[in-house]
Amino acid sequence: MTDFYAVIGNPIEHSKSPVIHHAFAQLTHQDIQYERVLSPLDGFAETVHGLISHGFKGANVTVPFKLEAFAMANRLTERAQDAGAVNTLIFDAEGIIGDNTDGVGLVRDITQNIGVSFAGKRVLLIGAGGASEGVLHPILAAYPHLLIITNRTLDKALNMVKRVEARDEMVFVSVNAYAFDDLDGQQFDIVINATSAGLSDSQLPLPSGIFAPYALAYDMMYGRITPFMAFAHQHGATVFDGLGMLIEQAAEAFSLWRGIRPPTAPVIEMFKQQAKA
Ligand code: NDP
Repeated sequence: MTDFYAVIGNPIEHSKSPVIHHAFAQLTHQDIQYERVLSPLDGFAETVHGLISHGFKGANVTVPFKLEAFAMANRLTERAQDAGAVNTLIFDAEGIIGDNTDGVGLVRDITQNIGVSFAGKRVLLIGAGGASEGVLHPILAAYPHLLIITNRTLDKALNMVKRVEARDEMVFVSVNAYAFDDLDGQQFDIVINATSAGLSDSQLPLPSGIFAPYALAYDMMYGRITPFMAFAHQHGATVFDGLGMLIEQAAEAFSLWRGIRPPTAPVIEMFKQQAKA
């Protein structure tokens, strides 16, 4: 019997999730259907209940509903609580479980697909929105030496640091928030752009010497070369976009729903080939 899943967002027509999940289903011989669902901006809860009443088993949640998904889940995983946002819903007999797979998706893409370890590294996380919150704890759990968060609105970065400091188990990593202006003279091994600045082709005010030798520059955005990627390339960094993260976070959701981990390399390769065509 076919099981049904969906991705809920507004807008949603751009979402690659159905293609990714159908590819996973084919690779793992799972009988699923996965749809895009456009939810009214003021009707997220009704949309979710509608899916449940139609027998859907789970859903992914994207912009702008990740906080509402967090609020409406009956049970939250630890990583959803850490992130303060939910991108994956599981519907079962007891209600709705909320999880967040973005952080594990980013860390897996960087460590396993790209092959760069966070351990002992100096890491710069740019942005303090939902995506940055989602990856913060998984990055800390990968044991960098130092994590600096920078954001246009500095207070948001400072609040993220305060929340980390309030948790005793994170004391092994030095975490701080800097304004863009204070990054002068600093060098990082891994620089992650978790802002949406690339959407408007805006350049981030980063000093040119920010990349340590052999640095990795990772933009969570995918499907375009952002000003950040061009800047990083110009200043000697190895550059990756967020396609691998997108596919890895989806793989984590698929594993939660189906109890089987799909291979991600063929799906990443499929999207890369499509982009070249
Ligand atoms: P939010 O709207 O929650 O946060 C946006 C962030 O970008 C804020 O920190 C904001 O700063 C900053 N920002 C926006 N415009 C500019 C600018 N012109 N200059 C400097 N900073 C700017 O978005 P999300 O955190 O949800 O998403 C961020 C990005 O990550 C998006 O591009 C999204 O597509 C991508 N993403 C990719 C995923 C993947 O799987 N690859 C998964 C999730 C997200 P301020 O606080 O000052 O407003």
